[in-house]
This record gives sequence, structure tokens and C-alpha cells, in this order.
Amino acid sequence: MKYFSLNKRSPSVSYREAVIRGIAPDGGLYFPEDIPKFRKGFIEEIRELPPVEIGMEAMQPFVDGEIPPAVLEEILNKVLDFDFPLVALDKGISALELFHGPTMAFKDVGARFMALSLGYFSRNSDREVTVLVATSGDTGGAVAKGFLGVPGVNVVILYPDKKVSDIQERQLTTLGRNIKALRVKGTFDDCQRMVKKAFVDEALSESLQLTSANSINVARWLPQMLYYLLAYRQKPDSDRNLVFSVPSGNFGNICAGMMAQQMGLPVGHFIASTNVNDTVPRFMQTSQYEPHPSTATISNAMDVGDPSNFVRILELYGGDFSHLQQNLSSYAFTDPETRAAMTRLYQQYEYVADPHGAVGYLGLKKYMETHPETDGIFLETAHPVKFLDVVRSTLNIEIPLPRQIREVMNREKVSIPIQAYEELRDFLRS
Ligand SMILES: *Cc1c(COP(=O)(O)O)cnc(C)c1O
Repeated sequence: MKYFSLNKRSPSVSYREAVIRGIAPDGGLYFPEDIPKFRKGFIEEIRELPPVEIGMEAMQPFVDGEIPPAVLEEILNKVLDFDFPLVALDKGISALELFHGPTMAFKDVGARFMALSLGYFSRNSDREVTVLVATSGDTGGAVAKGFLGVPGVNVVILYPDKKVSDIQERQLTTLGRNIKALRVKGTFDDCQRMVKKAFVDEALSESLQLTSANSINVARWLPQMLYYLLAYRQKPDSDRNLVFSVPSGNFGNICAGMMAQQMGLPVGHFIASTNVNDTVPRFMQTSQYEPHPSTATISNAMDVGDPSNFVRILELYGGDFSHLQQNLSSYAFTDPETRAAMTRLYQQYEYVADPHGAVGYLGLKKYMETHPETDGIFLETAHPVKFLDVVRSTLNIEIPLPRQIREVMNREKVSIPIQAYEELRDFLRS
């Protein structure tokens, strides 16, 4: 499989190069040159197949020629080593829990897949790769854990001091080994700016092989399609329309589901559920794409004003807006609505949702007002414990800390304070 740049001014590259580069030289996102189709009979048999075999069918075409099947199988065994349960709440409403992995958010899947791909590509190289990533919260932990101990790869994570939760900070500062955390005096945007500056710093790229692990990397984006397949495998047999509601920020997760649909997964409709950062819901109403600066909300992993993966969704529909409208609805919800949904889920079903999952639930409910004959699945993208303050103040309950969180609670946080780009540069050189 070759990948082309959506800006169309850079040459097509292999999977390997797309992973290492992250973004094309012309600034475009990489996109596969063709969309493979599942083999005949695959969907009919899917209930009988083990997850890794499903992963092989879906991912093999995307890494073909670059990662041998036996290695891909090893990678998938590590990526899919936790459960993705589909929890039925009501008639036509289920939650797909994506938070049973090492850092308790769906980003574990993509981060691990990318880490193992990169580890494979640098296996015989004596030149180490440095992964540089800025995080506003969940990405840092997933990337840190995913890359921990991968030989030949060093990871440097920038996060805004005092602007991530205690648990999130612990997840990215307590691992040690090949993971280094820099706490930046400033905002997430400052972190992002420094990372971008490092990538265009020629003196730096002469001495270091730098790569990015943010969500536009194809190795993080594509494997997210796997849990849509695993959801389908668990859903009750029915003729009703299957609909996924995906709490969306940068729109990588939902775009992976749409890719699975085009490969042959029988999904009737997608719902992109957002908080008040509603660039895409507005686009779906007006067909005008007008990004706004982001607004802070309680579902902070979705505080994105200009979703970076949305261009991939447009590409999947070849720019045909009415075709896209038939397949995608998008709704935005406020923080009070989100808290009310968390309360309702708790009172009605004794289900503790995190604020992102609650937004997904709201989108599904809204769609079902006009489409009651639906088999709806909303994605529960993070464990509620990751948003403890919101859960406490909304539901007045305590949640027991899961093993993955207890593990990081009594380790020492280690990070280096920085303020200016020069400090980042010096750190990377040393
Ligand atoms: C990253 C994240 C999202 C948003 O996912 P996108 O792929 O950026 O749309 C939603 N929920 C949680 C908990 C996240 O960490």
C-alpha cells in the first residue's frame, strides 16, 4: 500500500515512510491510495474469528510489503491484549467500552500499534529515533506506555504545567526508562508550537531522527478501525440499522470507523458527537467549514476548534457533501447537558460514564428521536476515573481506582521544567 499526501504536492510513500514522517513534506495528511475490501465471507464469519485474526484481515493490506504477516500478528497480539466489551443498557442502546487498556483510554490501541511499528522499523538501525509529542492530557500517557521499553526509540513528551489532571500527569511522568517528560510553563498551544519548531529546526534534524506520535500518524489512525469490527462481532443478531455515535475532537477515531464501513463493515450511519466545539456540526448544517478557536469544556479531550482529521473524512466521500450527509450526522452538546446525561445514565442504568462517553450517548439519543429502529452503539472512550473531579461533582460518588491507576499513584513524578524553545532544543541535543 502506498500513501499519498492530501495536499497533493509531495510524492506517495510506503507505510514505513508515512509512519516515520508522520506528516508529508507539503504539510498534508497521508491517505491510502486505495481502500481495500474485506474478503468475501469475512463479515459473515466474524463472530467465529478470534480478535487477532480480525485484525490481520483489516490491517494486512495497509502494511503489506513493509511488515511481514508473522510480525503483524505479534504486534496485534500486543495491541489487542485487553477487552472491548459491548455493554447493553437499553433497547437499541449499548456502550462500547474502549478503556480497559493500560492507560484507560481508546488511544492505547493506536499508540501501541504505532510504537510497535516504529520499533520494528528501527530494529536494525544503530540510529535511534526520537519521538516528540505534545499532549493536552490523554495522548501523553498512551504514547508513554505504548513506547515504554521499545528498543531504539526515545520519547519526549511536552505537557502544560498544572493544566493536566494529576492522574494524567502521573501516567506520563512516572515511567522512566526511554520516556522523558518536559513540563512547559504555558498552555497546550505553547507545547504544540515548540514541537512544530523542533520539526523544522534543520540543525536539530541533522543530529537527530525526529518523528511525531500525534493522532494524524497513519499508524495511530488506521488500527482504530479494529474495535468497530470487534463491536460488530458482539452485537445481537438483528436487521436493524447499526449506528455508531463517536465522541469526537480531532475526528481520527470516527474516521477510522468510516474506513471500516467502506471496507465492508455493515454500518448504517455514523454520529459525530461533540461538545460546544462545534465546527463539524455547523459544517454538516451549512457545508461551510469555519473553524473557531477552541473553548474549554469538561470533556477536554474534545476541545478542538479545527479537527485535524476531518480532511480525511472529506476524502473518504470524495468531497460529495450529500453523500456524506447520508452517512454522517453531527450534534453538539453543552457541559450542563453532558452532566445531565451522566446523571441520567447513572440513575437509569447505574452506569458511570465519563464526560466524553456521555456526549456520545447524547448524540445517539438525539439521532434515535427520529430513527427509533436503530441498533445504537456509543463509544465510551475513557474510564470515568480519568475525569474523577467531574464524576465526583456530578454524581456525588467515589469510584474505586482500577489497577492501572493504582500502579502509577505511588510512583514518583519526574519531569523537567522548561519555558523557551531553546531549552527544548538543548535538551534534545544532550
Ligand atoms: C482523544 C479523545 C477523544 C477524541 O478522539 P478523536 O479521535 O480526536 O476524535 C475523545 N475522548 C477521549 C477520552 C479522548 O482521549
